Amino acid sequence: MTADALTLLTDALGDRVDTSPAARHDARADKSGHSSDGPALAVVHAASVADVQATLRIATATRTPVVTRGAGTGLAGAANTGPGEIALSVRRMDRILEVRPDDLLAVVEPGIINAELNDALAAEGLWWAPDPASRAISTVGGNIATGAGGLLCAKYGVVRDAVLGMDVVLADGRLLRLGHRTVKGVTGYDLTSLMVGSEGTLAVVVQATLRLRRLVAGEVCTMTALFDDVASAAVASAAVTASGIQPSIMELMDAASLTAVHRLLALPEPPAGVAQLTIQTDGPVAAADAARIGTILRDLGGTVTITDDRVEGERLLEVRRSFHAAMDHLGTTLIEDVSVPRSALPAMFAEIERIEHAYGVVIPTVAHAGDGNLHPNFVFEGAEAPPAVWDAADDLFRSALRLGGTLTGEHGVGVLKRRWLGDELGPDQWALQREIKRLFDPAGILNPGKVFAD
Ligand SMILES: Cc1cc2nc3c(=O)[nH]c(=O)nc-3n(C[C@H](O)[C@H](O)[C@H](O)COP(=O)(O)OP(=O)(O)OC[C@H]3O[C@@H](n4cnc5c(N)ncnc54)[C@H](O)[C@@H]3O)c2cc1C
Repeated sequence: MTADALTLLTDALGDRVDTSPAARHDARADKSGHSSDGPALAVVHAASVADVQATLRIATATRTPVVTRGAGTGLAGAANTGPGEIALSVRRMDRILEVRPDDLLAVVEPGIINAELNDALAAEGLWWAPDPASRAISTVGGNIATGAGGLLCAKYGVVRDAVLGMDVVLADGRLLRLGHRTVKGVTGYDLTSLMVGSEGTLAVVVQATLRLRRLVAGEVCTMTALFDDVASAAVASAAVTASGIQPSIMELMDAASLTAVHRLLALPEPPAGVAQLTIQTDGPVAAADAARIGTILRDLGGTVTITDDRVEGERLLEVRRSFHAAMDHLGTTLIEDVSVPRSALPAMFAEIERIEHAYGVVIPTVAHAGDGNLHPNFVFEGAEAPPAVWDAADDLFRSALRLGGTLTGEHGVGVLKRRWLGDELGPDQWALQREIKRLFDPAGILNPGKVFAD
């Protein structure tokens, strides 16, 4: 059956079908540290919507699974492609088709890299706000399919807030146009939103209509605040949120993550136990907002440094941005992504401390504190997380749910969190979501085994 699929693909798409061992091997993994059981059947480098349609028609006819891939930077194993599966790469579909400053929208192909799009938009005084830390290496299509977030989303929104519509190819090859180019639009069900975060399980995004913003005028102020412990830093970030002042960035690093980054960047070792908030304000009242936030932080025991120099501000942010690299240095990491209501941030950090003691593990954690999204990292040796790590992760997920939170704020379910999906959704919603998947993909060829456990 799969040999037939390969012949049909090669007949239809010629050298855009790549069966080289290197390409088939690379398609096994994303950046989660996990990979599939073996090389993909082939990698299709789609260059057009017609290529995607041809691939899916052949896949449906031969019942061959298809895993859509952007840049493969995902952290949930969702793009990992296994034996007998086609890796459908849309990375080469990377054109900007239209920019409308008057309507504040752009139409793009899915394979364009987020930062490259924003470089082009900046020339027109525009930007697409979603800013995953991976923006220099991840695609807009991947950002949409994972529902990506980033550092700026508490103020400027996540991908869901920044997509007006999209063209998608269904499993049987039909092309659908979803959403609209208007600011408002409520005709029928909101299938655009359904696609956001669907991790390649419902359709392939082949074009997107993005909601743009004008670049923010005015200055930028950046500050760091050091606290004696992570609990005090978490309380301070919750106080900033409760004050009603809206920073553009508010990031928290616990002692283990701060120490790891300082070592990586060869900076002086921070005092033991110290945690750090990194906060940025922007717009016409950036300086006044920064001063008010500084007062709140000092009143709560923080040692505050503020700068309105952009280069110095970037240097301060560099510490936060180096977190993933620092973790890679420590060993294999399981990067988690729980999210809790912002007022529950101190309670979630207390849970992490409890779990560290209960399971004898260190869990370096950073948080997008402005929106309550935490990235606790389990570091271990070897390729697979040992059972103790999964037990601790299980406890972590249940703690987040107990606090009114969610299993994943921005990385998605993929293969890594599907075991816990039912715990958050409950049996009725889990069954309903499976029905939705079946409706879009009756033959079950789109990214099977991802999001839902088999
Ligand atoms: C250093 C680092 C930092 C990161 N920081 C962040 C962060 O701050 N915030 C954040 O949210 N994530 C972050 N990530 C995770 C990752 O970059 C995002 O999930 C990103 O959106 C994935 O984009 P991609 O192009 O690499 O997609 P891939 O990894 O290729 O695919 C991810 C998922 O999307 C699906 N998919 C991709 N393209 C399409 C398409 N056109 N149509 C349908 N389905 C598709 C795939 O099937 C898969 O399920 C980070 C990753 C790294 C390595």
